Amino acid sequence: MIIPLVISELHADLIQSKYSIVDLLNAYFERIESYDKKLNCFITLTKDKAYEEAERCDKILKDSGPDAFKDYPLLGVTVSYKDLFLTQGVRTTAGSRVLENYIPSYSATVVEALENAGSIMIGKTNCDAWAHGASGENSDYGPTKNPWNTDYVPGGSSSGSAAAIAANFSLVATGTDTGGSIRQPASFCGMVGFKPTYGAVSRYGIVAMASSLDSIGHFTRCIDDCERVFSVTKQLDYHDATQANFPKSANLASKPLIGLPKEYFIGGIDAEVKENVLHACEVFTKAGCKIEEISLPHTKYAIDVYYIIQTAEVSSNLGRYDGIRFGNKRDAFGDEAKRRIMLGSYVLSAGYYDAYYLKAMKVRTKIIADFDNVFNKVDALIAPVSPTPAFKIGEKVDNPLSMYLADILTVAANLSGIPAISFPFNATKNGLPLGFQIMGPRFSEDRLFGLAKTFEVSSKYKPKVAAL
Ligand code: GLN
Repeated sequence: MIIPLVISELHADLIQSKYSIVDLLNAYFERIESYDKKLNCFITLTKDKAYEEAERCDKILKDSGPDAFKDYPLLGVTVSYKDLFLTQGVRTTAGSRVLENYIPSYSATVVEALENAGSIMIGKTNCDAWAHGASGENSDYGPTKNPWNTDYVPGGSSSGSAAAIAANFSLVATGTDTGGSIRQPASFCGMVGFKPTYGAVSRYGIVAMASSLDSIGHFTRCIDDCERVFSVTKQLDYHDATQANFPKSANLASKPLIGLPKEYFIGGIDAEVKENVLHACEVFTKAGCKIEEISLPHTKYAIDVYYIIQTAEVSSNLGRYDGIRFGNKRDAFGDEAKRRIMLGSYVLSAGYYDAYYLKAMKVRTKIIADFDNVFNKVDALIAPVSPTPAFKIGEKVDNPLSMYLADILTVAANLSGIPAISFPFNATKNGLPLGFQIMGPRFSEDRLFGLAKTFEVSSKYKPKVAAL
């Protein structure tokens, strides 16, 4: 059978009884068994549970016919979960040996919502331990490889999720984006990566990295799927006090004005990446949008501010893993987590708090104001996602500073809490995926979906997966 690449195709096939959901799982697990040895996308597979769910879904479909999709909008949709999402009864490691035997007693709100919508968990995906990283190489379970070229990283920290859908191991994958961990791996793997507005999706039951920056999003192969999944995950959850009731966002203007931030084209940006974003601007222009250069003057400090605030919050969040009630002892933390705990404790300690943490918080406010000002003029922004395409495995792993610089174009959206979509577009001469990101004001997701769909039509976009 041919595995469908998008939800509309899957549902059309199911209505026509081309195959059952159990058949579909056979096809996915066959691929995973053949190819995941070389890619290392999964830490845990949930095969038994998946087949149980599939049988239940096939029965629902048999009993209710096409009406089933009204109650179960994601019926039969396979999901790979980043191993930061708590899954009741299923081991959740956060990519770290500290939690190698941890079996959660409850599921994250988002996992529950997706399961109630009829989706099926395929497994838990590999990631940089505690979501610290931009390449997947900080995982205690070995690096994930990029399905387009296994000498290259798939990006991080949601490495296994991005690679899993690029490899066609599931239809959808979830991720967390604290400083780019959905958008950058999506871009390195040629997939759609969505970081919602901070607070739009519940963080309850997701292993916390930096609580004021963590956004819970997903990977798909088209915008329609992205929107369908978001309509399930954005529901209000009283377990997360920072979650907002999602307001209805303004409709897309008939001639949208898109800003091109000049600070995002800093020296050192790869020529192919830059050319390609400018090419995407032309596609938007042909589709009736207007592009205008704008300035976000304080975003040049975003990476410095991020590595102060984020490490401060990491040092606090990782304090709970004391090895007393659950998990292994603290000596199981890897080098990167230790580095962040030390940096974070330093910037929060007496004498340094004012000099570093407080100063960073003040600059964060300036960065937020930059975006607010610009969004009084333009509807959205377009920018590169990462200064380079996917880099080689091993290239940056021994140089934390150069790894941190990979986040230079993604972190400002997290500091300001705005939504962003990373969209795949073209490839390098060497066949590695390229892309761009669009960003909008807080809670402007509908507008971003509208813009990205305009782009899909006008660029004649077709979802694809890597040949393995
Ligand atoms: N690469 C960034 C970091 O290492 C982003 C991580 C993330 O978004 N989880 O902090």
